[in-house]
Amino acid sequence: MSGTDMKLVVVGAAGRMGQTLIRTIHAMTGASVFAAVERPGSAFVGRDAGELAGLGPMGVTITDKPLEAFVEAEGVLDFTSPAATVEFSGLAAQARIVHVIGTTGCSTEDDARIKAAARHARIVKSGNMSLGVNLLGVLTQQAAKALGRTDWDIEILEMHHKHKVDAPSGTALLLGEAAARGRGIDLGENSVRVRDGHTGPRAAGSIGFATLRGGSVIGEHSVIIAGEGEQVTLSHSATDRAIFARGAVTAALWARDKKPRFYTMLDVLGLN
Ligand code: NAP
Repeated sequence: MSGTDMKLVVVGAAGRMGQTLIRTIHAMTGASVFAAVERPGSAFVGRDAGELAGLGPMGVTITDKPLEAFVEAEGVLDFTSPAATVEFSGLAAQARIVHVIGTTGCSTEDDARIKAAARHARIVKSGNMSLGVNLLGVLTQQAAKALGRTDWDIEILEMHHKHKVDAPSGTALLLGEAAARGRGIDLGENSVRVRDGHTGPRAAGSIGFATLRGGSVIGEHSVIIAGEGEQVTLSHSATDRAIFARGAVTAALWARDKKPRFYTMLDVLGLN
């Protein structure tokens, strides 16, 4: 650890992304694992975070006291659950630090509370922290704008591992938002998230979602734009969770000298 390293707290440190974050920060320059947090009562509290992540002891003991860790740190990396993330955003605002949020499945109310916390915390939130998916979002927006709303049907297909608890994925929704932006429409009013039974014909101009779950798939997304006699497919495959973790650390380092505000990965990557 160097004196100029950004001091980061990993919350949900024992989770799939939490462990990946610890390994990724360890391998990157410019940041270090300052603290690791799990929920009160978790069997992982008191364990060494490096040992848990397969790196060997790193002298960071997993704690269940987030605020104590936040006030001494510069940033928090959060891939947990919506309820935990809303709570952590309030604590990040109290501590006036950077809060990078990868958690998906947040409700409109959750997002409103997170945006309120961004009056004091520098928050970067994205349903996908990878460069590739954010670029795919930009391409989706362009394609949706170029291809006529009633002649071309947009469907978003995703597959994830069997442990995932929310659907459609945060990334599928991010891509849907990009398509809706390209068409100048509201996604909430124009999306079809589930189809079952006698649905009738497809509503012109709607954006459809289809969700697959199984095995250990890290993340597969396709935006299918289907016209009469031809079809365009834009897709992304994630084969390593480290792409999300590297994106999250990059976001924290980027936000280090920014003003308190709500940012997305498009701001971080200069794609906005
Ligand atoms: P996971 O393995 O279940 O990890 C979540 C961790 O957070 C668990 O260890 C959980 O502990 C912990 N946690 C929950 N509430 C907590 C609290 N109040 N305090 C401290 N720790 C708490 O899930 P994952 O696969 O890592 O995914 C986590 C989230 O990140 C999901 O929403 C997923 O969709 C999202 N994700 C986003 C991206 C992106 O690029 N944006 C990429 C991958 C995943 P318990 O087990 O005790 O509940």
